[in-house]
Amino acid sequence: MPRDLFEIDVHDGAGRIGQLTIPGRDLTVETPALLPVVNPHRQTVTPARLESTFGAEILITNAYILYGSDEFRERALEEGLHRLYEFDGAIMTDSGSFQLAEYGSLSVETTEILEFQRRIGSDIATPVDIPTPPDAPRERAEADLATTDRALVDAEAFDGDGMLLNGPLQGSTYADLRRRAASQAYRRGFDVYPVGAMVPLLTAYRYADVVEMVLAAKQGLGTDAPVHLFGAGHPMMFALAVALGCDLFDSAAYALYARDDRYLTVRGTERLAELSHLPCSCPICVATTAAELRAHEPTDRTRMLAEHNLYVSYEEIRRVKLAIRQGNLFELLEARARGHPALLDAYRHLLDHETVLERSDPATKGSFFQLSAESSRRPEVRRHQDRLSRLAVQGESCLLTAGSGHSETHDSTWRLLPPFGPFPRALSEVYPLVAETPERLSLAAFESAADGVTRLVEANPEVRFSLAHHRWPAAALDRLPESIEILTHESPDDEP
Ligand SMILES: [Zn+2]
Repeated sequence: MPRDLFEIDVHDGAGRIGQLTIPGRDLTVETPALLPVVNPHRQTVTPARLESTFGAEILITNAYILYGSDEFRERALEEGLHRLYEFDGAIMTDSGSFQLAEYGSLSVETTEILEFQRRIGSDIATPVDIPTPPDAPRERAEADLATTDRALVDAEAFDGDGMLLNGPLQGSTYADLRRRAASQAYRRGFDVYPVGAMVPLLTAYRYADVVEMVLAAKQGLGTDAPVHLFGAGHPMMFALAVALGCDLFDSAAYALYARDDRYLTVRGTERLAELSHLPCSCPICVATTAAELRAHEPTDRTRMLAEHNLYVSYEEIRRVKLAIRQGNLFELLEARARGHPALLDAYRHLLDHETVLERSDPATKGSFFQLSAESSRRPEVRRHQDRLSRLAVQGESCLLTAGSGHSETHDSTWRLLPPFGPFPRALSEVYPLVAETPERLSLAAFESAADGVTRLVEANPEVRFSLAHHRWPAAALDRLPESIEILTHESPDDEP
């Protein structure tokens, strides 16, 4: 069943911009894409308005709710979803697995609900998977996974008449189960791969666990598989989720938070009651003050908050896409990671998984900003240091120095730049060695440079190395190989 419906235009780290084709409807959705959740019974913002005002190319709605609704079931069957919702973009439908997780029972089988999704004209349909909560006993996670896999077998056999199919990935908080679920589903050949049961992790700010589970799932999938991070609707974590290689996000948050008088920002969530100012330039926020917004009657207030929440969410998706195109997704992620300690943890966790990041990171980008200790662990730094193990130094002696001149007393002179380490001068203008670094570097940057020196020294055992430095911290100097001669300078100008 694998169809070439997802095309990747450009990468930054594991993040990417792609095009998901909806066959038969002459539609392409650009990813990363946000799918606002539309509840037919409670349309805080109508689908028509999502399309006309917010530029929504795709939304998600629950087929199980429509299926059980006296009000909408027949209309959905007669008119089709797109007319019912007055929405021309792509519509993904969920099967009711969320209801299963919340209420523990579901009176419908995969084939039956897929047939309903086909008949109402869904563009991307979902089988009935079993969302296992985090930290469930392993036996339960495995048993649920076996049930989900049977649903996927039914889905694989289902004739959807061109309709795209989700292959949901479960496995609780067991990385190996997530990986296995992903490789099984990928072999069966679905069109989109939602990583499920993430909501409990997201609401508990367990972002590092989200990173772990998504990366495990990604390991079981081909790079050509579009991944949907199910339930990730908060703009503060879009950059992180995209950097993990996720392509689709659904947001119920914009409406749920609005009903609770909460105001989303890319740095976190605010309570309207506690806001003295509205820190946003969306049409809602420029037309009203926080006090005026509070004074509106609840229905209006909820709609206005929901619209603000949507504006900031779509803005952040566009910012993330721009960052990928400009090759500075990591710089954006570093800024977002400072919004919450749990996000910083998650970012650090992501940097531990170098292979995932390096696999698709482009060799050259616009700029490299050294912004934090974490910058020293970016894939560009690791890649440079891997090269150092293979670089040959000319001559018998080599001086490593931050200065710009050549040494008279050494056969060759290499530049030394934290966090990368040494490199031949010829590479000075080559990305990422054109990096912008602050004057006051973190210890991590010096230590990383020292490790780079070690790689080079070990690769060239015949060469006598000297290192000229200005105010390198002792902890970094201690990491250098014993064989290297260390020259200390009082000021940077003393260096050759
Ligand atoms: Zn606003």
